[in-house]
Amino acid sequence: MMDMAQTYLDKIRRRREEILERVDIALDHAGRHREDLKIMAVSKTVDIDAAADAVRAGYTLLGENRPQELVRKFEGLRAIENLPEYRLDMIGNLQKNKINAVLGHAGLIHSIESAALARAVSERAARRVEAGELSAPQRVLLEVNVSGEESKSGFEPEALRACIEELMELSGISICGLMTMAPRGSKEMAAKTFAGLRELRDELEGLYPALELRELSCGMSEDFDVAIEEGSTLIRLGRVAFNPSFALQ
Ligand SMILES: *Cc1c(COP(=O)(O)O)cnc(C)c1O
Repeated sequence: MMDMAQTYLDKIRRRREEILERVDIALDHAGRHREDLKIMAVSKTVDIDAAADAVRAGYTLLGENRPQELVRKFEGLRAIENLPEYRLDMIGNLQKNKINAVLGHAGLIHSIESAALARAVSERAARRVEAGELSAPQRVLLEVNVSGEESKSGFEPEALRACIEELMELSGISICGLMTMAPRGSKEMAAKTFAGLRELRDELEGLYPALELRELSCGMSEDFDVAIEEGSTLIRLGRVAFNPSFALQ
């Protein structure tokens, strides 16, 4: 008899296929294509081996929400031979004293939540570019609190409108798009939040032709389908990608 025991890699590979089926349905509803969407496996709750398995399973994008863990994963994954190519992004709260640790390790920082943080990242990144330690300005997304929940971080839309011109001038960062988190528990509310993010993107791009907000980072395990229908270009999947017993909704 062959050993039929499934490895963790088998399980998350199978899960990825199930996710892709849902993704394709949502893309189809919206008249969009696979090339328009990136799928991140949020590895914050799993160890380096499981993160490596996610890359072997086909994810080309990983996300971490804590600076120290991001650096640890970066180093750990780099030491593994024959791993397919991937990018590691920072998606969580970033304190100013942790910026230097993240620079050079994060492909994209999704969580720029204030003008002060944008300035601080830009200043440090510009210095590193000048010193030849970074090849380009740090790519970032601006996190927006679209839903207005007090517990959520991010720019209030009005505050972002007020400072976007200043942010565009910062030489150490390259603004690539917007990010948001939806309220939990209601797909309707989530859809409204994601639509609000898209509308804000359209408004800002209309006002500032030099601003190219290509990336809309929104949608997680419980609401990635509605996010895709509302225009998300990057969904961030944690539990649904890594926990085979988490029910796909
Ligand atoms: C944890 C986390 C996710 C993934 O959450 P799931 O609901 O487990 O998919 C996505 N984005 C951010 C910013 C997170 O912190």
